Amino acid sequence: MRLPSAFALIGVLGLVACESGTAPEPEGLIQGDNASLQRAVRGIQQDLSRLRELPFDAPVISSWVKRPRLMVVLDSIEGSSSYSPDTSSGPHPTETEIYVALDLMAPMGSVENNRRAFDSANVEGFYISGTGKFWMVEDPSRPDWRTYSLMAHELAHAMQDLNFPEAFGEIASMDEDLASMHVVEGEAEYLGDLWSLQDRTPRGFEGAFERYSLSDAFSDVSLGHPGSPLVTTLPVFSYYWVGEWSIHDQRKHAGWSAIDALYRDPPRTTKRMLHPLAGTAAQSFSEWPETGFKNHPNLIPLGSDRLGEVYLASMLYWRMPSSRWNTSSWKGDRFWVWRATDSLHHVVAGRIRFETSADAVQFLSDWAQGRELSIRNLGDRDSIEQTSANLGFVRSVRRDAEITLLFGTLPGGRPDTLADAMWSELSAIQPVNSSAARRSVATINASVTAFPKFPTKPIRIWKDYSRSRR
Ligand SMILES: [Zn+2]
Repeated sequence: MRLPSAFALIGVLGLVACESGTAPEPEGLIQGDNASLQRAVRGIQQDLSRLRELPFDAPVISSWVKRPRLMVVLDSIEGSSSYSPDTSSGPHPTETEIYVALDLMAPMGSVENNRRAFDSANVEGFYISGTGKFWMVEDPSRPDWRTYSLMAHELAHAMQDLNFPEAFGEIASMDEDLASMHVVEGEAEYLGDLWSLQDRTPRGFEGAFERYSLSDAFSDVSLGHPGSPLVTTLPVFSYYWVGEWSIHDQRKHAGWSAIDALYRDPPRTTKRMLHPLAGTAAQSFSEWPETGFKNHPNLIPLGSDRLGEVYLASMLYWRMPSSRWNTSSWKGDRFWVWRATDSLHHVVAGRIRFETSADAVQFLSDWAQGRELSIRNLGDRDSIEQTSANLGFVRSVRRDAEITLLFGTLPGGRPDTLADAMWSELSAIQPVNSSAARRSVATINASVTAFPKFPTKPIRIWKDYSRSRR
C-alpha cells in the first residue's frame, strides 16, 4: 500500500479521532499496558462490524509483546516445527531445497533461517487463528495512529475467523496457497486502512492510497529487503498490498458479498486475485496432471505443483531484475522436481502456458538471459540446448504460447539418455481442462512416479509485516 504522504494520513487520523464516537482516544493507548490495549479493542470491533457488514460480537483478547520476546512467543504458539520442514510423509524436501532446485534462489541461502530473521525484525502484530487472541509488538517509535490501524488489521482477522471458520480447508498448490493469502491479508489490510480514514468509502480509499501492483512490490522488496530471497519477500508484499487492492476492486465492483464468496469458493490461482475483474474467460487456465513420468533409476520424485504468477515472477526477476513479463498473460504451469538418490543433484521439468506467443517469447528470453543461455530460433519454435554453470544441462522449447523446460545437474553417467527419456515423457503430458477442478488423489501405479506437492507453510497463524509507506 502506498500513501501520498505520511503527513496526510496523520491529518486524516486526527480528524477520525475527533469525529468518531467509537474510535479510541489517541492518548488512551499505553504501550506495554494491556488494559489500555483491551479498552481500545471494543470500539474498533464495532466499527469493523458496521464497515464490513458482518457480525463481530465475540470477545477478543489482546496483549503486548516486546520485540526481543517476539520469537519466543511465536515459537511457543507455533511449536518447534514452525520453521522446520514437514516431515510427516515423503522424502522430506525442505522449502529451501525445492526453491533452489527450481532456480528460485541461490543455493547458499536458507528460506527457513531467512524467514525467521525477517519475522523477527518485521512482525508488528499477529492474530492466532482459532483463538480470538492477537498480540501487538511494542515499538516506542511507532505512532499511536499506526498502532490503531494495525489493531484494526488484527481484529479483521478475528472477524474473518468468526465468520468464515471453514475457509481454505483444502489448499492444493503453492499457487492456491498464495491466492488464499491474498484474500486473508488483502482484506485485513484493506479493512485496517479503511477504518483509519474519515471517509470510509471506496472513494475515500482511492483518494488516500495509491494503487499497488506486483511490479511495485518487486521494486519495494528489491530496495527494502535486498538480503532476503525474492521468493520469500515478493509473495508477502503481493498478498498484503496487491491483495488489498484486489479486495478493494472486487468490493467496489460487486459489494461485500463478492468478498464473502472468496471464502466460500476460494480462488484457485493468484491470477484470480491479481486480475480480479478480468472476467471468467480470462481467468481460465490450463493444468497438467502430476502423473505421466515413469520411475527413473536413481531419481526420487520430490514434488509437483503449480507455481502461478507470483512465484514465476520471482523465478524471472531474481536473476534478471530488468525483466518485465506480462503477468496477466499467465495461462497455467506445472513443475516436477526430482532429487538424485546418491547426491544433492536435482532434475526439474516444467510446462508453462501464456495467453500469447509474444508473452511466451518474452518469458523464455528473459529466463534464458538471466542464466546466460542462448536461444536458437528454428522457425516454428525457439530452442535451448546448453549446459549452464548454474543449472547443468538445460533443454527448452517454446512453441506457440507454451514453454517446455528441463534442467538440472543429472546424476549418473548418461545424462543425455536420461534427458531424452524424460523429455519425451514431459512433452507427452497433455493439459487438462482447468474446470476439472481440484487436484485429484493420485492412483497408485508402481510403474509411474507419485509426486507429493511442494512443501509450503500452513496458514495457521497470520503475521503482519512492516508496511511499505511512501
Ligand atoms: Zn494480517
